[in-house]
Amino acid sequence: RGPMNARPAGVVVTGTDTGVGKTVVSAWLLACARRRGARPRYWKPVQTGCPPDDDAAFVRGAAGLASADVVPGAVRLRPPASPFEAARLEGVTLDAPTALPPVAPGEFLVVEGAGGLLVPFDATTTLADLFVAWGLPLVVVSRPTLGTMNHTLLTLEAARRRGLEVAGVVIAGPPTPAVVDAFRLHGGVETVVTLPTLADPARDVAALAAASDGDPAVEVLLTRLLAPHGTGAPAAGGLLARDAAVTWHPYTQHGLGRSPLPVASADGATLVLDDGRRVLDGLSSWWTSLWGHGHPAIAAAIARQARTLDHVQFGGATHRPAVDLAERLVALAPPGLARVFYSDDGSTAVEVALKVALAWHARRGAPTRTRFVALEHAYHGDTVGAMSVSADGPFVADFRGLRFDVTRVPPPVRGADVGACVEALRATLAREGDRVAAVIVEPLLLGAAGMLVYDAAYLRAVADLARRHGALLVADEVFTGFGRTGARFACERAGVAPDVLCVSKALTGGALPLAATLVTAEVFDAFRSTRTADAFLHGHSFTANPIACAAALAALDLLDDAALARARAIGDRLGAGLASLAGDRRVRDIRGLGLVRAVEVDAGPGGYLAEAGRRMADAALEAGVFLRPLGDVVYAVPPLCVTDAEVDRIAAAMRAAVAAV
Ligand code: PLP
Repeated sequence: RGPMNARPAGVVVTGTDTGVGKTVVSAWLLACARRRGARPRYWKPVQTGCPPDDDAAFVRGAAGLASADVVPGAVRLRPPASPFEAARLEGVTLDAPTALPPVAPGEFLVVEGAGGLLVPFDATTTLADLFVAWGLPLVVVSRPTLGTMNHTLLTLEAARRRGLEVAGVVIAGPPTPAVVDAFRLHGGVETVVTLPTLADPARDVAALAAASDGDPAVEVLLTRLLAPHGTGAPAAGGLLARDAAVTWHPYTQHGLGRSPLPVASADGATLVLDDGRRVLDGLSSWWTSLWGHGHPAIAAAIARQARTLDHVQFGGATHRPAVDLAERLVALAPPGLARVFYSDDGSTAVEVALKVALAWHARRGAPTRTRFVALEHAYHGDTVGAMSVSADGPFVADFRGLRFDVTRVPPPVRGADVGACVEALRATLAREGDRVAAVIVEPLLLGAAGMLVYDAAYLRAVADLARRHGALLVADEVFTGFGRTGARFACERAGVAPDVLCVSKALTGGALPLAATLVTAEVFDAFRSTRTADAFLHGHSFTANPIACAAALAALDLLDDAALARARAIGDRLGAGLASLAGDRRVRDIRGLGLVRAVEVDAGPGGYLAEAGRRMADAALEAGVFLRPLGDVVYAVPPLCVTDAEVDRIAAAMRAAVAAV
């Protein structure tokens, strides 16, 4: 599939139950598609009860397919049971087939499910999760027997709750009129196709397809399925006009009249637009979607938790997901961090860190320690405290009066010498160290500043000097946490153990907002007494939201050594793809750490506001990749699920962006 190609023409055939006629309907759909000029292709990714069952062999014969038109099945299991049970009986572990086979223009793919919508595939995935991953519309096959209304409506409701598009219901056998009306009225499905019962399906499918020509319901269904961009979603123009009338986007000058991308769905590294175009999410959606969009394990954890306990306030109540996650974070984080305070996003995690640092010194009899030392170029968020410790610049220009005074020290970036920068911090702390509550840093990688990387030796010196002067070290790993730098935490790469650690973004794999501020036992213990006034009097409505905690637990399950190795490999491959830019006169610097790579171009004056950024974004989008340069820095933060081919496409888009300057 090319970069900006439509969602492929195709359909997933599922049923209200096993044995309702999915295979016959699949063969019929393929025969109908061929009659309308498409090349039919069939895929049965999961076949159980095999042998003797072999739906692919039946479909091939009944629809008259060439063997090349049958995609090899991904999973074949002997026991006639759900994949979950059959795999257990055979003692094998299944790889979820989450990617569709390639479908060329002019082809029409029928994917046949196994059993019904909620048949378990493995311990964490149902067939519905796979359907979500594939992004094709569904045809639900139903039968005209007693009980069909309930079974069909249950299936339709479950599909709708997962955002699955149901193109139509096919009833294999003559239904009563009330059944058809029930599907329309209660199931919200417009297209209901009735097929006769076939005396000999293997023989009669082709004739049935011929007889279906001109049937109004069949025409509607096939037109919708064969349309190259057939999402059935409202036209993008309509959505964009409505968006322009009522929404206010972050960091966006609405007066420029630039349209946002209308995103209908997302799958792995791919954003699917309303018109069917597919665009790679080169920034993992503001650095959140570490494992790619719609990860089945994370989605399943969210669904499970939403049904069990959606939310309860964390003041005066607790719950298992929060406690499980706190234990996991403490075990995962650099040594010494022992307590977890939850909040909602990177900015609130930083606010908590700053307030904790001030209050901690106050509890310990040093209320005059109220200053913060922060790095030049830093970015810690947009709320008042986080904005105060962030560097000066266009983000904060309007809010000078609101920001508290912060001491800034230069990090060793843009050629600055490590020793000189350490000396600058040493001198600063010698001067005002006894008034400093905390030194706050983005460890090793200043993200929003344009992916500026600095030496681990500097971070070690910061940790050492802060400690010697009695100031807390706050590590803001909102961006760098959970594997982005090729280690679990950037601090780990430098062998540094901070007193306070801020995490968010990839914590939930990007699926839900959640943040945590971790502190040492020494910090926590200063707030523990018998006086309420000594407590940390801070909280948010959604502190430790159980669904977000469950998402985080599922996401952390994925963070193993192989994932870290993959992060480094992605960065290396991206770097290799950018190597040809090294001599380019427009390029000032190529840099990166872990899976992050950035190219800084010489775009003339303007900094963050440089017009070059918009031209680079347009060129990248033209190449099928969603990137949003930081002024004159075009960069990529791919999700870990990217294939090598997708990494190469991101590198190509970055080269195209530079060429557009
Ligand atoms: N800290 C760092 C290092 C960040 O990169 C960001 C956001 O990019 C933040 C804090 C703020 O996070 P949020 O946008 O979730 O408030």
